[in-house]
Amino acid sequence: DSLITALRSKLDICVEGEAVPNPIMCFSSCGLPEKLVNNLEIAGYCMPTPVQMQVIPASMSNRSLLVSADTGSGKTASFLIPIIAHCSRVRSQQCTSKLGPLAIVLAPTRELCLQVEEQAKVLGKGLPFKTALVVGGDPLAQQIYRIENGIELIVGTPGRLIDLLMKHNVDLTYVSIFVLDEVDCLLERGFRDQAMQIFRSLSQPQVMMFSATLHLEAEKMSNSLAKNLIRISCGNPSR
Ligand code: ADP
Ligand code: MG
Repeated sequence: DSLITALRSKLDICVEGEAVPNPIMCFSSCGLPEKLVNNLEIAGYCMPTPVQMQVIPASMSNRSLLVSADTGSGKTASFLIPIIAHCSRVRSQQCTSKLGPLAIVLAPTRELCLQVEEQAKVLGKGLPFKTALVVGGDPLAQQIYRIENGIELIVGTPGRLIDLLMKHNVDLTYVSIFVLDEVDCLLERGFRDQAMQIFRSLSQPQVMMFSATLHLEAEKMSNSLAKNLIRISCGNPSR
């Protein structure tokens, strides 16, 4: 225990919450699909970054998280890796192919969504893991068509996703991971109610919220979205 505490302090990781899983030191030590570990190698991810060391095992224990860590610290992969692991596990156990999405990532801008989806494609290559991008600027019909054909992850902006969900019936029964990326920015842009609306159409998903900064509003929101939350902060995110 004191070893783990020393390790976290060395990595500049602070955690708050009950029974926080121990950090991992390498990608191959936490039961990820072999292909995913390969994809990480190909992408040049030799070692997890500090935020990934703590977020991946916490996420893989299905815990809800509020994470703050500097820009560029690798937060995207910290939620994509557990999402890809979850999706490929579920899909390889299923016999029916056409089920709805298994995870949703919301981000405040089209550009951010594109970046997240791009990284998801790279890391999920060769696995039963397909993505749909739900952002403005591309035809809605095309996005609906893609979802209808069977995908695992939706990456989108809150406004556009609500728009799509109102026009088309998407089965959200199996969405068990809900990520709010750049949550401070989502709140600043007034997406709170829309994010809450999407959350309420899900059945008790694991919630993971990420930000470079951490303000009271995000903190408050996290308490209304999840019980038994783990707070993780890496480095010295500004308050
Ligand atoms: P954040 O969301 O925290 O601002 P990103 O997730 O966008 O940061 O990651 C920043 C950069 O670091 C990206 O180019 C990403 O590909 C790279 N990266 C992420 N994890 C690792 C890793 N474990 N090893 C090497 N590079 C990584
Ligand atoms: Mg990011």
